Amino acid sequence: MTHAHADHDHDHGSDLSPVEARVRALESLLVEKGYVDPAALDALVEMYETRIGPHLGARVVARAWVDPAFRARLLADATPTIAELDIGGRGGEHMVAVENTPEVHNLVVCTLCSCYPWPVLGLPPVWYKAPPYRARAVIDPRGVLAEFGVSLPETTRITVWDSTAETRFMVLPMRPAGTEGFSEAALAALVTRDAMIGTGLPRAVPVLAPEMPA
Ligand code: FE
Repeated sequence: MTHAHADHDHDHGSDLSPVEARVRALESLLVEKGYVDPAALDALVEMYETRIGPHLGARVVARAWVDPAFRARLLADATPTIAELDIGGRGGEHMVAVENTPEVHNLVVCTLCSCYPWPVLGLPPVWYKAPPYRARAVIDPRGVLAEFGVSLPETTRITVWDSTAETRFMVLPMRPAGTEGFSEAALAALVTRDAMIGTGLPRAVPVLAPEMPA
């Protein structure tokens, strides 16, 4: 969705987007008034950039693939189950895990804004926050998936989950074929961020070349 900018009064002399400029102005004001400590802000940003990310959600998925009791708990009540792996926090207080099956594929969106399970998936991708995804995920989920390179059988139903400030969803993707006997860590490495949003599938298992003779 594009819109004409002619009626907007943009500051074209700045490298910052309008949102970035507003964030910078708000941050400056909050620091100036003494409401926030810039060091604390830096620490928070650093935490989301380095320590919190989709590798955490991938651990949840891998555990669910190897441990049927964990999987059952995850689908019944995700927040405390995710917390068993010491994962959780602000924005993840009311997690719901939805399971992909051959019959149902789940897709997560926030049509109103950009609600996202931060403590489990880290920072949201830019497209997740953008109006085209937010509008089209609901109207044409199959078309959106095609743009992400995901084509599902016609018989697979697509269920779209609309996140809110209260409830944040994560998708439990189907375990890829050929992963019998994989360690939890090896399984987690197959789980992409997009697979947990529903716009992707887990990585396919690479076909190993025959061992070279020594
Ligand atoms: Fe939102």
